Amino acid sequence: MKVVISGGGIGGLTLALSLHAAGIEAEIHEAVSEPRALGVGINLQPHAMRELTELGLGERVLAAGVATRELLYANRYGEEIWREDRGLAAGYRWPQVSIHRGELLMLLVAAVRERMPGALHLGARGVAVESDASGAVLRLAGGGSARGDAVVAADGIHSAIRAQWFPDEGTPRWNGAILWRATSEHPGYLTGRSIVQAGSSAVKFVCYPIREARDGQPALINWIAEKRVDPSLPWAREDWNRAGRIEDFLPLFTEWEWPWLSVPGLIRSTKAVWEFPMVDRDPLPRWTRGRATLLGDAAHPMYPIGSNGASQAILDARILAHHLAVTGEAEAGLAAYEAVRRPATAAIVAANRGAGPDLVLDLAEQRAPKGFGAAGREAVLPLEELRSIAEGYKRMAGFEPSVLNARASYSARLQALA
Ligand SMILES: Cc1cc2nc3c(=O)[nH]c(=O)nc-3n(C[C@H](O)[C@H](O)[C@H](O)COP(=O)(O)OP(=O)(O)OC[C@H]3O[C@@H](n4cnc5c(N)ncnc54)[C@H](O)[C@@H]3O)c2cc1C
Repeated sequence: MKVVISGGGIGGLTLALSLHAAGIEAEIHEAVSEPRALGVGINLQPHAMRELTELGLGERVLAAGVATRELLYANRYGEEIWREDRGLAAGYRWPQVSIHRGELLMLLVAAVRERMPGALHLGARGVAVESDASGAVLRLAGGGSARGDAVVAADGIHSAIRAQWFPDEGTPRWNGAILWRATSEHPGYLTGRSIVQAGSSAVKFVCYPIREARDGQPALINWIAEKRVDPSLPWAREDWNRAGRIEDFLPLFTEWEWPWLSVPGLIRSTKAVWEFPMVDRDPLPRWTRGRATLLGDAAHPMYPIGSNGASQAILDARILAHHLAVTGEAEAGLAAYEAVRRPATAAIVAANRGAGPDLVLDLAEQRAPKGFGAAGREAVLPLEELRSIAEGYKRMAGFEPSVLNARASYSARLQALA
């Protein structure tokens, strides 16, 4: 069996590696002519780290990132709302890893080149798919094409194949939030491996290290400043490479001086900021047509809430390879993949629109806008309420420790048909 993949991002590369591990031939057609370490930090949840570990990449990924120790939700005064252990500390068999997206991408590119020489075709833009009873063809810009038993479009939020199938869908949906992403060097704060989410959905600040302080070198802190404006205002198309301006958001955070971190100090010490609107798309009624399907952001772009975009693309890749291997048949494999993944990811898209686990921030802001004061947090936000929000999201997104630790592996080998 051979699978043709359009898009060599995190989802497409992981799919190629997963197919290869399952004994299925794969080739990737990626639009850019040279992969570059673009982006800033992302989080790999334990469910994604399990898959990368089973692909033999766990140690490389961990060495390039930071094993997250805890997640802290705080109000704008830096007061603790909710704190939970993450990764190994929370009882998972796999860590949660915060990592530079570009480094993760380059590590996956290197693994594909090592294990599957010649499988990654660069400067190859997929423009359309045709599917018939015996196979599927990816049409490429410039007139070329690639044929396989199946085609998978892993070509990101502006997927050409999704646009071919749903021509009236238009641009992604913007919720009015603007995100400024950047990294800054810093000596480190709290455990040195803490993710912090602070403020509310109106004005929020998120930070986490993607490189630990070590050998006299400072830590590298990834941070995201977020503010909400009127979503009916015109906004530029989302582009991961658009530079932002500190003056546009620093004034919102000048008073966020906490005993353990100066937010304005962190913002001022960056060298470059990237601006991105918070967008997603409505879940689709179907992902698969004949022998072609969608994967990752092409299938289910979601708000970057709950740190799940890359993790869900990795899960898609492993589950698709699993079903192709166990069914041994392209159409049956694609159908089984969609039956599992479409409802699961639609639920996350919906939960993220409703703030996901970040709901605790808005509750704290509404109930104690001037801080918790002498009465403390428990007076306005009981622990039980906070726990049920955090656990509910994990259950829905498929990363409860007991469930993840106990479930069978997706590793499978294609059986040669007799
Ligand atoms: C340059 C870049 C920087 C990013 N930075 C961040 C970040 O800092 N933080 C964050 O949370 N998320 C970031 N993301 C998004 C994040 O990588 C995805 O949300 C997530 O990893 C899902 O992966 P994906 O493979 O589905 O999509 P993506 O990682 O977006 O990969 C899609 C791939 O398809 C390629 N492509 C697009 N159109 C075509 C076509 N027609 N034919 C062939 N190939 C095509 C793209 O070049 C890209 O390599 C970034 C994405 C990109 C492309």
